[in-house]
Amino acid sequence: MVSNRSSVWRAMLGLVLPRGCASCDAPDEVLCDDCAGLLREYVTRPLPGSLLGVTFACGTYQGGLRRAVLNWKDHGDQECNRPFLAACDALIDAAQLPPVLRKLDAQVLVVPAPSSPSSMRERGRRHLWPIAKGLAHSLATRGIDVRAANALTIVRARGKSVQTSGAGERAARLTEHNMLGDRRKLAGKYVLLLDDIVTTGTTMRRCTQTVRQAGAVVVAGLALAATPQKSRVTAQCDISAT
Ligand SMILES: [Zn+2]
Repeated sequence: MVSNRSSVWRAMLGLVLPRGCASCDAPDEVLCDDCAGLLREYVTRPLPGSLLGVTFACGTYQGGLRRAVLNWKDHGDQECNRPFLAACDALIDAAQLPPVLRKLDAQVLVVPAPSSPSSMRERGRRHLWPIAKGLAHSLATRGIDVRAANALTIVRARGKSVQTSGAGERAARLTEHNMLGDRRKLAGKYVLLLDDIVTTGTTMRRCTQTVRQAGAVVVAGLALAATPQKSRVTAQCDISAT
């Protein structure tokens, strides 16, 4: 896979060359202060079916933050784990989650949104897992009964025809994935969902649904970034708003 090769290459270069900021390439930084500031421009998105009803995100998925997230997610820049974990940790405090979590009457699980088998193969890692583990560790030091759990997985839908007649049909078939929740891990627990980028919110909603079906309660979602909300400055919306 190309991305695997480039991440190996990058790791090898890192042995001999000083690195630059994952976003702006400023020398000798994993993520420079200015770019790290983009992770403190908190936004929320609705998360129906969760206790708090929202996904909290560190920043908006555009410009410099988009570059940093992509370098980390798809180009193997695992050194970003540290600043991204710090950002999520700060987000949890900004969202005032610790007091809420401390009051819960069962264990809290930090559960990463699952990747499809193909993207996991391409990346060669569960990119959200170090952050989920770090967050659980940090919350535990604050007196919360919590651990990280890979409790959601995506599998290719079974029973689909292998024969396809065209590209469109094939594309439709490939998007047919099932999300599975591990009932043994989830039942009776509270869940903080963790994802990298919230776009339409479909993945978070699907995770919430799956977690609930497995007998757990989603407290809220957490994300590194959320895409900008669609502008309402269209003629039709202006009319409907008045
Ligand atoms: Zn920078």
